[in-house]
Amino acid sequence: MASETANLYDEARNYVGGEWRAPSADGQDVLNPATGEPFATVGFSSAEDVDDAVGIAREAFGTWRNRPIEERIQPLFAFKELLEQHQDELAELLVREHGKTLGEARGELRRGIENVETACGMPTLMQAGHVENAAPGIDETAVRKPLGVFAAVTPFNFPGMIPLWFLPYAVAAGNSFILKPSEQTPLTAQKLFELVEEAGFPDGVVQLVHGSVDTVDAILEHDDVEGISFVGSTPVARTIYEKAAANGKRVQAQGGAKNHVIVSETADLEFAAEKTVGSALACSGERCLANDVVAVEESVYEEFVDLVVAETERQVVGNGLDEATTIGPLITAEHEQRVRNYVETGVQEGADLVVDGRDVTVDGYPDGHFLGPCVFRDVTADMVIATEEIFGPVLGLVPVADVAAGIETMNRSDYGNAASLFTGSGAEARQFRHDAEAGNLAVNAGTAAPMAFFHFGGRKDSFFGDLHAQAEDVVRFYTDETVYIERWPGAE
Ligand code: NAD
Repeated sequence: MASETANLYDEARNYVGGEWRAPSADGQDVLNPATGEPFATVGFSSAEDVDDAVGIAREAFGTWRNRPIEERIQPLFAFKELLEQHQDELAELLVREHGKTLGEARGELRRGIENVETACGMPTLMQAGHVENAAPGIDETAVRKPLGVFAAVTPFNFPGMIPLWFLPYAVAAGNSFILKPSEQTPLTAQKLFELVEEAGFPDGVVQLVHGSVDTVDAILEHDDVEGISFVGSTPVARTIYEKAAANGKRVQAQGGAKNHVIVSETADLEFAAEKTVGSALACSGERCLANDVVAVEESVYEEFVDLVVAETERQVVGNGLDEATTIGPLITAEHEQRVRNYVETGVQEGADLVVDGRDVTVDGYPDGHFLGPCVFRDVTADMVIATEEIFGPVLGLVPVADVAAGIETMNRSDYGNAASLFTGSGAEARQFRHDAEAGNLAVNAGTAAPMAFFHFGGRKDSFFGDLHAQAEDVVRFYTDETVYIERWPGAE
């Protein structure tokens, strides 16, 4: 059995105006997915709570935007150090409320810290452009200016990383920022904000409000919120995009996914199988980058199926706090049932379930939300299991004539988040890069996760908006590019 965490929170709180406050409305329990038991509660913030936070943020913005940029990044350096120091504690808390493995939690935090580091480059990132003699005697300059109060609404599956796709950039650019994390994993956000408090941001510049749909609606309807960054499922991303736009706000909304892997007969098949299985099953498949449709060239299909089955059977299902575990529980009993329904659908659709994880049990955790990995072979591109986001440890293998047919199959998807090609051919790699309709593409890598200094892509139903998370895109999202045109009569 896993060790108990010494330092747990009983109740998630808002961080507003430099103070910890209980949200006004009742909320829900925070569950440990490995035990199925509640271990904390999270209240939901009312429209008045949101109004308080936005009012304070708006006031803080007035002073913060006038601080020299070099001063604005100092709390980020402190925040980065604190994140490094508290990484183990954060990882353990994250596992307890989310279920992923400790290694996955540490990896996620590393990717979050990378964003804090990148945002420390804001003095360079905010530079726009200058042209002398744009017209006779006239110089033109573009200046990126902060706009006011921004909010981010984030999902349950990367509670330590996704808030950091936004927070450091928004504030380094001179805005104030409010996070509304997932109500399913609110405690990691709370820990992040204890470090925010210690890092020395002025009160009101960075705030946390817990809540659910009503809280998000209050943010979307508030006149003093300039823009929203959203990450979550496609139906909600679409709604957020529409409501934010209707209310005249900037919006970037990242949605769900159905990612494909294409395996060429020229690929190193053992390597491709290991990376494909890792990518499909990491975080129990609860990843927007999970590659769960695998299109394999017919000439190597049988060999690849055997390699995937062997690799899948090496996985260990258990509590994420146990070091031996490679696949943790799913977030809730309802979600586990939803994924089980997809497995049943796959069987009914006629796909061949060659690894069946439905009967898995984990010693000591009879009420955990566990589902062992499931692998289907002989999946066709039109099956429900090949078209809808499952968000669980389920992988489907589709035989295709060649790489071009694999690309065609993936391009028929409504989603366009990520895709991978395993190949030994430069020509195939180029064709894939040119033709694949997804925002994050990888060649000979299972997970196409861009580093913080590149934006996180996404197309079609996986993204609503034009400027993405991370890097220069998010800097442009959080700033307005004002153009100055200047002439001094008498100057040469
Ligand atoms: P979700 O859409 O249920 O919730 C996301 C956030 O939206 C939460 O904070 C929630 O409180 C809020 N929310 C939920 N319903 C709402 C509504 N009707 N109106 C306003 N706000 C609402 O998503 P989730 O289950 O937490 O996360 C999983 C989903 O997120 C998956 O679809 C996954 O693919 C996607 N995701 C996408 C990316 C990406 O980069 N594209 C990254 C991570 C996760």
